[in-house]
Amino acid sequence: AEQLDHQARTDALTGCANRRHFLELLQAEHLRTIRYQRAFCLVSLDLDYFKSINDRYGHLVGDKALCHFASVVRKTIRPSDHLGRVGGEEFAIILPETTLASATAIAERIRKEVELAPISLGDSLLTMTVSIGVAEWTPPDANNVEKLVVRADTALYKAKSDGRNNVKACDSPN
Ligand code: C2E
Ligand code: C2E
Repeated sequence: AEQLDHQARTDALTGCANRRHFLELLQAEHLRTIRYQRAFCLVSLDLDYFKSINDRYGHLVGDKALCHFASVVRKTIRPSDHLGRVGGEEFAIILPETTLASATAIAERIRKEVELAPISLGDSLLTMTVSIGVAEWTPPDANNVEKLVVRADTALYKAKSDGRNNVKACDSPN
């Protein structure tokens, strides 16, 4: 039963929390933050040009890229931070007890680590980059955590439109 539980919560490819479980963790952190008046941040990450990687090298390499990315990120954050795969090449991180300035520094650390850790394809190396958006929970989010998700995604789109391979923080509260 424990193993089935684990399977139901985990993305089989990358070992991250799957979308459904990640949203449960997000809701739990949201409620904890309201109850105890703590800080937390949500980070949205999207691999740059993932579709071209798939098209050019095939899906096996695409899968390898996703696993590689997840493992680089996991090594760069604490075990108490939650990494989820929320879409095809889209990931998100819950950073409990973390303010926007720290979360932005963490995101920048992740961005660098990913760029500096190419995937080995046997005879060649493939460098991946990631675009990242960061948002901090604020009291107006108390009635709907979806607002926080939208702010993190909006920051991510800015990172994309600003040339990719960069980090944007959402500093305007709501
Ligand atoms: P960990 O907590 O699992 O953290 C994994 C990696 O995430 C760290 O590897 C580091 O690259 C990054 N990281 C986590 N928190 C921070 C942070 O506040 N600032 C920065 N710059 N990076 C952070 P690293 O450095 O090789 O550390 C390996 C393990 O050693 C950590 O695993 C943790 O268990 C322990 N550790 C290292 N430094 C400290 C520390 O100052 N205090 C505590 N409590 N543990 C530490
Ligand atoms: P720092 O690297 O400048 O990090 C400042 C603060 O950002 C940390 O304060 C923490 O609140 C937050 N932070 C940084 N990285 C992470 C992360 O991966 N996950 C989470 N949840 N929060 C993170 P804190 O904890 O008081 O640590 C103070 C300093 O102690 C850090 O400054 C860093 O220099 C060192 N440190 C603590 N833990 C680690 C670690 O595991 N690895 C390394 N390399 N340094 C650590």
